Amino acid sequence: MIAGRYKRISFVPVVLAAVILLASCADIWCWKGGKGDISSMSIKTESFGRTPQGEQVQLYVLTNANGVKAQIMDYGATVVSLEVPDRDGKMADVVLGYDNLRDYIKNSPYFGAIVGRYGNRIAKGRFTLEGVEYTLAKNNGENHLHGGIKGFDKVLWRSESVNKPNAVGIKFSYLSKDGEEGYPGNLDCSVTYLLTNDNELKIEYLVTTDKPTPVNLTHHGYFNLSGCERDILGHELMLKADRFTPVDSGLIPTGELRPVKGTVMDFTKPTPIGARINSDDQQIKFGGGYDHNWVLKRTGKGLSLAARVYEPSSGRIMEVLTTEPGVQFYSGNFLDGTITGKGGIVYKHRYGFCLETQHYPDSPNKPSFPSVILRPGQKYTQTTIYRFLTR
Ligand code: BGC
Repeated sequence: MIAGRYKRISFVPVVLAAVILLASCADIWCWKGGKGDISSMSIKTESFGRTPQGEQVQLYVLTNANGVKAQIMDYGATVVSLEVPDRDGKMADVVLGYDNLRDYIKNSPYFGAIVGRYGNRIAKGRFTLEGVEYTLAKNNGENHLHGGIKGFDKVLWRSESVNKPNAVGIKFSYLSKDGEEGYPGNLDCSVTYLLTNDNELKIEYLVTTDKPTPVNLTHHGYFNLSGCERDILGHELMLKADRFTPVDSGLIPTGELRPVKGTVMDFTKPTPIGARINSDDQQIKFGGGYDHNWVLKRTGKGLSLAARVYEPSSGRIMEVLTTEPGVQFYSGNFLDGTITGKGGIVYKHRYGFCLETQHYPDSPNKPSFPSVILRPGQKYTQTTIYRFLTR
């Protein structure tokens, strides 16, 4: 009895003290701007010009509570810029792109765009589904790449802003008509970008169809965590994958899931991207560097860590989490200095890298790969997070 009363008396001041301490910590966080000031979260809309057909293109400027800023346009549902802090709090834009719409329309290697209906290649631009052969647009030699001639990166998406307690965002929607680029079915797509107060760019995908059809959407951001001060060869990459899908000379998977152990494809431990990129390994030769799909070693059904990248000079880290079974690591091999991007920066060889979370390339022709077929009544969902930290 005595002990019980004693406990009750001491409990009140302890709880009060804890509340006061927590409240003052929260104050200090806000005051320093470190953990964020939610009053600075905002979504602003600007014009980004007009398409040659005269359609107005909007640019959304999202700012989170820590001052992290993402500019996203409705043409291609494209991330135009993403400013994140380095280890000293200095902001820099860590994605490649253009300053103006004209250049995106004229010549973009999918900078920051949503890719669909099918991320990466489908061999010879054809596949058979339920006894019917479909012929797709060929835009990569004899193959179909990233949805074809006019993929989801080249269409204007409908858009609406999204406000959440911990994030600001934009929801993009697009109806891809039956037969578009050769694919069957009307495909109803939505892609929501959320910029969270945990410094994450979170992308949520939802797709439905009225006929069976392959679906494999992805985000094609080119990252350079130095803020494009130099190429990406010094970035240290870890991929949570102990197998990859080797390709032929046309970059079509052979169907094999090959262990990375003992090869130049092994990124199970953090390794500079440039450490082995010029080796005479046949897979590296086929890709002109890294341009392969890794088979993710997933932990459970939901979001699972796929990759972590560290840039030593700035201290920036990017983590990629996804619900997808694979990730295409592309080391910007086709960048060759002919593109001048934002702020007049020339994108030289390997100035950006992509980590495209996806199903494996050419899955519609590879029955042993996880299925990409969406059927009426089913929902295609995908979530991927690009999370920014420092060290
Ligand atoms: C592909 C590359 C291609 C690049 C830009 C990547 O996803 O794997 O082969 O060159 O996108 O189109």
